[in-house]
Amino acid sequence: MDEEIFDVIVVGGGIAGATCAYLLAQEGHSVVLIDRGSEPGSKNLSGGVFYCRVMEQIFPGFTEAAPIERHIVRNTLGFLNQNSHVAINYGDSRLGNPVNAVSVLRAPLDSWLAEQCEEAGVMVMPSIRVDSLIMEKDQCVGVRAGAEELRARIVVAADGVNSFLAQGARIRAKEPAQNLALGVKSVIRLGEASINERFHVSAKEGAAYAIVGDATQGIPGGGFLYTNKDSVSIGVVLRLDALAENGLSSSDIHDHFLNHPAIRPLIAGGELLEYGCHLTIENGPHMMNHDLTRPGLMIIGDAAGFTLNTGFAIRGMDLAAGSAQAAAQAAHAALLSGDYSRNAMDTYPAALAASFVGKDCATYEKAPAFFENPRLYSQYGQLLAEVFFGIYAMDGAPHRRISTIVRDALRLSGTKATHIVRDAIAALRSL
Ligand SMILES: Cc1cc2nc3c(=O)[nH]c(=O)nc-3n(C[C@H](O)[C@H](O)[C@H](O)COP(=O)(O)OP(=O)(O)OC[C@H]3O[C@@H](n4cnc5c(N)ncnc54)[C@H](O)[C@@H]3O)c2cc1C
Repeated sequence: MDEEIFDVIVVGGGIAGATCAYLLAQEGHSVVLIDRGSEPGSKNLSGGVFYCRVMEQIFPGFTEAAPIERHIVRNTLGFLNQNSHVAINYGDSRLGNPVNAVSVLRAPLDSWLAEQCEEAGVMVMPSIRVDSLIMEKDQCVGVRAGAEELRARIVVAADGVNSFLAQGARIRAKEPAQNLALGVKSVIRLGEASINERFHVSAKEGAAYAIVGDATQGIPGGGFLYTNKDSVSIGVVLRLDALAENGLSSSDIHDHFLNHPAIRPLIAGGELLEYGCHLTIENGPHMMNHDLTRPGLMIIGDAAGFTLNTGFAIRGMDLAAGSAQAAAQAAHAALLSGDYSRNAMDTYPAALAASFVGKDCATYEKAPAFFENPRLYSQYGQLLAEVFFGIYAMDGAPHRRISTIVRDALRLSGTKATHIVRDAIAALRSL
């Protein structure tokens, strides 16, 4: 590394970092993108469902050009109980045209993003782990990696959920366990034909499942399954504090989910390709209220804590890209004016608040508190199963009216009608 001063150093070659680096290079700035992986994305766990409209704005033709897996046109929301399951299955061709969400595997996607960066003129530096920021009189002027120093007018920290750089700049403290969840994920190869058949989708189309209840053995969080081209990404997300209190092992809960009678047939005969764990932030909407800058420094993506769990969907990748757009806009203006003060950097949170990231975080501000409700993970699944059992079981005894079935189901599941009313109001206010 020499003494050159770059316009921008971006640390982290995930969605947030690569997108920000690309946008700034396109504006003609000198940009370095540093990632600790042997190539950007190589350290990133499998993938997920990417709500990708934002990528079409940044990379026109994204869904055709990028290595995406399938267009998600079917969504299944389910409750698992020990011996039963209840699901809502929503399919809609409108979700495929224009493409609303795609399943992705991160290693090929991040590598493609790094290629776009290089083509736009970004200097991509893999296999370098940044240890700290260089601060001079409260101004961030570069980064340190081992004995090397690299200097820039602006540093963008996009180093993921554990962001040591955001902690180093005292923007974020070490996150308490109740704000974190652990994701345990497998990628299982089934073959393209089996996926089309088992998930009722055609060649390019895919399905996404979000499941609560016995999926996590009652621990707040949920199970998920996304179809890739010839594999599925499947696993659980578990609130870290509840996991510690409960004493269960995260890998046992993952295995329990994969072996549930409603899930096992979907992945039967598959070959395990990848298995891993990764942390995610649970109180994402509240991260908007943090300060996100220092003079010469901005924090974006997971490093800033931008993830949203709405129960229907886990979102992080689109927020990473959206925050990168807002940061790139602010950095471009700062570079044009030569002003790297805190005021100049704070045009980033202002742009963010006005973007879909800020607006969606505000809309779902109360969602994390709503998802602490234990009834979501135990009683409601049981209640629904009791109601459907009452409706469908024909055991020769006189059949009960639905109102009686519901009353009996409430008693059997230990749920009170007042709970349902209270939780329904809370859901309407939070989601
Ligand atoms: C189990 C699970 C399931 C998920 N499912 C979904 C989903 O379906 N849809 C969705 O939108 N989101 C999902 N998410 C969230 C999503 O993965 C993240 O929000 C997204 O990856 C954030 O992108 P990012 O670029 O900010 O960070 P990351 O993707 O984490 O990238 C950070 C990069 O920084 C690099 N890095 C870290 N430290 C350093 C350092 N010191 N020096 C150099 N480089 C460094 C890493 O190598 C990495 O490449 C899920 C998360 C989990 C855990």
